[in-house]
Amino acid sequence: MQPKLVETNTGKIRQVCIDCGEPFDRDPGEVEARRGTGLPVSPRCPGCRITRRDERNASVFESLRSGDLGNVRATVVGPDEGGERLYPADCSGCQRPIRLPFKPRLDRPVFCRFCLDARSGR
Ligand SMILES: [Zn+2]
Ligand SMILES: [Zn+2]
Repeated sequence: MQPKLVETNTGKIRQVCIDCGEPFDRDPGEVEARRGTGLPVSPRCPGCRITRRDERNASVFESLRSGDLGNVRATVVGPDEGGERLYPADCSGCQRPIRLPFKPRLDRPVFCRFCLDARSGR
């Protein structure tokens, strides 16, 4: 559904939000700026845009928590967490504290880089 753009006598462009059905005024400059980039003008009022962004973020966070990232291809809007998540563990060889990019399993030994090298004969 294409957003309906109506020129108002205030110089603003009135548009009806496709989510809540409420008319809202948009700055014509914003529409022109979007036109130049080829990006579509949002068919939603500012309030609904914020609501949708929050919902999208919430679903991404939920996927991160449950570890189910199979079909999620969204980026989280917000500060960077500083790279990948690491799990603390103790090396099964030298007991040195290490960090793993995966969750350690209790029934499986984990080794630091030095012990791994020693075990692989290098
Ligand atoms: Zn709305
Ligand atoms: Zn070790």
